[in-house]
Amino acid sequence: MLIEDTYRHKGLRNRMVDDLLKKGITDLKVLEALRKVPRHQFFQDQIFIQKAYEDIAFQIGEGQTISHPSTVGLQTQLLSIQKGEKVLEIGTGSGYQTAILHAVGAKIFSIERQHALFVRTKKLLESMQIKATLTFGDGYLGWPAFAPFDKIIVTAGAPFIPPALCEQLKINGKLIIPVGTNGVQLMHIVTKKENGEIDIVIDGEFKFVPLLADRN
Ligand code: SAH
Repeated sequence: MLIEDTYRHKGLRNRMVDDLLKKGITDLKVLEALRKVPRHQFFQDQIFIQKAYEDIAFQIGEGQTISHPSTVGLQTQLLSIQKGEKVLEIGTGSGYQTAILHAVGAKIFSIERQHALFVRTKKLLESMQIKATLTFGDGYLGWPAFAPFDKIIVTAGAPFIPPALCEQLKINGKLIIPVGTNGVQLMHIVTKKENGEIDIVIDGEFKFVPLLADRN
């Protein structure tokens, strides 16, 4: 059952958004999405709900985390999604980023490699009436059946840019992916040019859980 979204939560959310604006999230559609989506409903342990509107990452079980709201905001802003665009998300996790993508009007396809998380988050998103096509699988391979995508977002730290993701990007499409090992990554903004070549711009340092190669 969903945890209630009270005026207190809404107030905390407004405060969080004011803080994120100062941190460089300025896209109005993204700010509106962050204001709208009840982040506390994506927390596993209700004891920690009061932490839901602080700019921190948090454990969601299975050794995974819900990303910082500022990171979710920044990645979404970098994607600059137009309504109805096809977006592939690698690392469904708690579903919070999925919900933000939904709120900015994306048509979402999302892959999670941990079965328990996949099952839990599928149920949660359904109960929140957030429409997204989810699968349990390996994000390194992308999702060929639904390719090509306008945008791709990777929400775990990748040791390299998986070639399948570049292949499954439309011309002029954009892939946002944190790349790096040893717990630190640089955000890579990858664009596919008219001639099919890849252009990469790097934007800032982040700490994500690793994009894992083997299922456990
Ligand atoms: N977007 C999530 C962030 C979750 S953390 C959120 O907002 O909560 C990253 C997620 O990527 C974890 O759930 C992890 O299990 C998943 N992951 C790791 N390696 C993966 C892979 N190869 N394919 C798909 N998902 C993967």
